[in-house]
Amino acid sequence: MSVDRWRADFPILAREVHGKPLVYFDNANTAQKPRAVIEAVSEFYTRHNANVARAVHTLGEEATTLYEAARAKLAAFLGITDPHELVLSSGTTAAINLVAHGYLRPRLQAGDEILVTAMEHHANIVPWQIVAAATGAVLKVAPVHDDGTLDLPALLALIGPRTKMVAVVHVSNVLGTINPVAEIAKATRATGVPLLVDGSQAVPHFPVDVPALGCDFYAFTGHKLFGPTGTGALWGKGELLEAMQPVIGGGEMIESVSFEGTVFAPPPRRFEAGTPNIAGFVGLGAAVDYLGTLDLVAARAHEHALGEALRAGLAAMPGVRLIGEAPERVAVASFVVEGVHATDLAVLLDLEGVAVRSGQHCAHPLMQRYGVGATARASLAFYNTAEEVERFFLALDKVRRMF
Ligand code: PMP
Repeated sequence: MSVDRWRADFPILAREVHGKPLVYFDNANTAQKPRAVIEAVSEFYTRHNANVARAVHTLGEEATTLYEAARAKLAAFLGITDPHELVLSSGTTAAINLVAHGYLRPRLQAGDEILVTAMEHHANIVPWQIVAAATGAVLKVAPVHDDGTLDLPALLALIGPRTKMVAVVHVSNVLGTINPVAEIAKATRATGVPLLVDGSQAVPHFPVDVPALGCDFYAFTGHKLFGPTGTGALWGKGELLEAMQPVIGGGEMIESVSFEGTVFAPPPRRFEAGTPNIAGFVGLGAAVDYLGTLDLVAARAHEHALGEALRAGLAAMPGVRLIGEAPERVAVASFVVEGVHATDLAVLLDLEGVAVRSGQHCAHPLMQRYGVGATARASLAFYNTAEEVERFFLALDKVRRMF
């Protein structure tokens, strides 16, 4: 079975938790790392460690080459032809904050509008609220239907003359819903409003050709893409990055500095002040290489089928309510179990070796929308198995009967 081969690449999957084989169903939170990534990070510190873009000695050049190679690999993975349009960041959160403060804030006036959806992660809400509060702009929210799909006509109707940014999640981390971002992009392009897409939960699950989506900014995080934590990127259209102000000043983001003034470097360097997470990006480059060695079509089909089996089993279980059943979805299932708090559920499942996330998933407004205080969430990756799904059901059934 291919899945056994894939699993063998991830050393952590062989460990036990509370004396039981680990069932790792928290991939939407962070994914596990293949040996190739772990070894690339270790190899970097063992052989190449130096700072980037400053030292001309051999190690400095090797580190710079590896760091820039990671940028190029990521760009190619996402269909981006010019790697200079990819700003490396510590993750999606940093990427969205950069657009909020560097691009949007200087362009906002009182009464201007920023449009998001009701299914955003806090990373795609709070930065906009901060710049709105500083400028008198207002946040508008497009609703979601009961089944977890976006109310697209309502979103399109909310784009008006005062809209200065539309910011939409590509795939909801709670509902698993895949949003029609290309359609949204058609509308924003027609009105000239920039569109930012939060791709955190999309890039690990299906091929994304970022420029082909038609958006203006695309943010994602590396640790859900099997790379190290503290890595991610912002893609922006060249002319928008050119027009964007830096938010963090310091070394490496300048052409020249004097006490009279500073000339900033062109993108992406303008937005990468200070020493970056070099080893992390080397690891992320290795993650992209690793994904390139897999039959990704087969891996993703396996993951999707498993996700559907997971949802079907949950839907059939008495007292279980699935939150979000959009037809276009990834292998993420949020659910509540009657009479059991999600956190208790997650703690008791952990005793069975099963790791799921519980809580509000950094999406408080979405929890309010569905009238739930918290949910449990099982989220899959291609290395999960049908046997693990069975073990999850057995564990869930056992826990459910305790109450
Ligand atoms: N957006 C979505 C949809 C997410 O799922 C996450 C991570 N849970 C983020 C943004 C934030 O990513 P990071 O914490 O890596 O910046």
